[in-house]
Amino acid sequence: MNIKQDIEKIRSDFPILSREIYGKPLVYFDNAATTQKPSVVIDALTKYYTEQNSNVHRGAHHLSNLASETFEQARIKVQKYINARSIHEIIFTSGTTESLNLVAASYGKKFIGKGDEIIVSELEHHSNIVPWQILCEQTGAVLRVIPMLDDGTLDFEAYLKLLNPRTKMVSVTHVSNSLGTIVPIKKIIDAAHELNIPVTIDGAQASAHMAIDVQELGCDFYCFSGHKTFAPMGIGVLYGREELLEVMPPFKSGGEMIKIVTFSKTTFNDLPFRFEAGTPNVGGAIALGTALEYIQDIGLNFIAEREKALLDYLNKQLSTVKEIRFIGTAPEKTSVVSFLIDKIHPYDAGAIIDRFGVAVRTGNHCTQPIMEHYDIPGTIRASLSFYNTEKEIDVLIGAIEKVKKMLY
Ligand code: PLP
Repeated sequence: MNIKQDIEKIRSDFPILSREIYGKPLVYFDNAATTQKPSVVIDALTKYYTEQNSNVHRGAHHLSNLASETFEQARIKVQKYINARSIHEIIFTSGTTESLNLVAASYGKKFIGKGDEIIVSELEHHSNIVPWQILCEQTGAVLRVIPMLDDGTLDFEAYLKLLNPRTKMVSVTHVSNSLGTIVPIKKIIDAAHELNIPVTIDGAQASAHMAIDVQELGCDFYCFSGHKTFAPMGIGVLYGREELLEVMPPFKSGGEMIKIVTFSKTTFNDLPFRFEAGTPNVGGAIALGTALEYIQDIGLNFIAEREKALLDYLNKQLSTVKEIRFIGTAPEKTSVVSFLIDKIHPYDAGAIIDRFGVAVRTGNHCTQPIMEHYDIPGTIRASLSFYNTEKEIDVLIGAIEKVKKMLY
C-alpha cells in the first residue's frame, strides 16, 4: 500500500471522520482537546456494556469475574504501553487532571511543607498549576516557575538555577498543549534527581504521539488522559513509582481502597487499588487498553513520521499567508500550531473557520500564563493527528483567506 491508501484505510477506522458539518466534510483539527475514536474502541466499549457489564473485584458471579479479568488485562496493556515495572504502578483515574490532583494532594500532603519549593513551568496547562497552588496555600510551600523563551522553549539554565535543597517536587509538561513544544523532560528529570527531587510529568499531549518509557525516563509520576489517546472520556492514568505510591496516603476514600473497616480503625488495600476508591470506569479502562493496542498496530514510528510531514506542510502553507503570526516556534514540536491572523480576534476567526467544517480551537487553551507571556488574548490552534491530510490543511488555508476577506 502507498501512503495515500494507508491514510484512507486509517481514516475509515474513525467513523466520525466521514461526517459532514454545515454540508462540508468535517476537518478535525482539535486533536489536542480530544482525539476521535476508532471503531475498535467504540466496539470495545459496546461489547463491555452489552456482554460484560458488572462491578469489578466483587467476585461472587461469572460476569463480575469476567469484567474484573478484562479490567485487569487493560491495566497490563497500560503497563506495557509506558513500560512500567509493575501493574502496581498503574492507577486508573478519570484523566490527567485527576492524576495530577492525586499526586499534589497525596504526595504533597505527606512530603511537602512550609518553606519547601515546587517547580512548575510557564508552559503548563492550568491542571498542572492549580493543584500545586492549592497545596502551597495549604502548606505554606512556595511555587517556583521555569520561564519560557519567546520561541516557546523552556529556559533550561533558569531551571537549573531554580533547583535547590528546598525543592521538593518538579512538575512539568512533556508537551505544551498550546504551542506543541516538546520539553526535554529527560534532562529535567536527571537534573532534579541529582538532588533527589521527584519529578511529575504531565503527559496529556504526549501519549498519542510518541513512545513513552517511564523506566528510561526515570520519572517518578507520569499522567495521561484516555480521551486524548483515542480512548473514551472519563478514564486516565497515573503512573507512580511503586516505592513512592507505597508510602503515600490515600487520595479519595471509600470502597475498593480498603482492606478492613471497623469504626475504630480502617486498613487500606494494596496497590494499585488503594488509589482507586469507588467503582472505577471499567468500560473506559477496557476501551483504553484497546486504544493503546490500536496505536501500537498503527505504529508510533509511523505516527511520528506522518505527523511531522503534516506539521511541515501546515507550517509551509500558513507561511504563504503574510498576515499569519506564529505563536511558539520551538525546534522540537508535535503537530500543534498556534497562530493569529494579524489583529483579528481568534474567536472571530474561529467562528468563520468553523463554517467551513474545520474544527480548530480558539482561546487560551487553559494556559493563561502563556497568553500573558505573549500579551495576547488567545490563539487559533490547529492540532493534527495521523489521520489528518494535506488536503484538509488546504481547506483550512482557504478558510483563513475567507476570514481575511470578511474581517478586513
Ligand atoms: N495537561 C495538558 C497538557 C493538557 O493539554 C490537558 C488537556 O487539555 C490536561 C492536562 C488536562 O487533561 P484532562 O482534561 O483530560 O484531565
